[in-house]
Amino acid sequence: MIFRSCWPALVSARRTLWHGTLQLLFPGSCWLCGQTLAEGHTGFCLSCRQTLTSDPQPTCPRCSSSIGPHVDLTGGCQRCRGTSFDFDECTRLGPYQGLLRDAILRMKRWQGEGLAEVLGALWAEHALARLRSKQPHVVIPVPLHWTRRWSRGYNQSQVLARALALALAVPFQPGWLRRRRRTGSQTALTAEERRKNLRGAFHAGRGLNLAGKTILLVDDVLTTGATASDAARALRAVGAERINVAVLAHAD
Ligand SMILES: [Zn+2]
Ligand SMILES: [Zn+2]
Repeated sequence: MIFRSCWPALVSARRTLWHGTLQLLFPGSCWLCGQTLAEGHTGFCLSCRQTLTSDPQPTCPRCSSSIGPHVDLTGGCQRCRGTSFDFDECTRLGPYQGLLRDAILRMKRWQGEGLAEVLGALWAEHALARLRSKQPHVVIPVPLHWTRRWSRGYNQSQVLARALALALAVPFQPGWLRRRRRTGSQTALTAEERRKNLRGAFHAGRGLNLAGKTILLVDDVLTTGATASDAARALRAVGAERINVAVLAHAD
């Protein structure tokens, strides 16, 4: 019984390991589909690259969820209007579905760091002009609690944020925000329960003063915005003036 319940995880771990091995043996193959890369391409083939970077719908500038045409965005979209966030804006690479969702799930597994690096580089290349227009002074990832970072082997948001900071030529400061307690899985919680569960889960580095600073806060997925908002609150508490969130995907 235990063996049966572990089987999907074992299969996916083997697949991840296989992709990692493929990358070592054939560095010129796509991380997601295994196709041979065209000359001058790294990480992903043209087809995967296009799928990952084609956001099919316009998005809400406040929470980055998909919106229809001619939507009234006064005070946010239908999903976020009435919800208070401690960040100012949120942008995304795409919706949490299809190939982007597969890539994020794969990235979160043990040894997913190599995939996170190429995904971060693709994101930086695609969104550079938009992110630069926010004029951030510093890039900070949403931290994982150390126990989760230890079990996963790395923090995927930190790898993604580093790629964005490098492309923007802006300081990268993963130590400026800490997660003081483990919040557990939030999947089964309602938006209100998530907010209560997270309250006070983050704190800024000791003695930090971010007065007048614009922060680019980076995470992999945004669902209700509760995690990003709580992280932003900790940065506001030390003076951050403007906080723009960038996520790989928004789970509508
Ligand atoms: Zn591919
Ligand atoms: Zn919204």
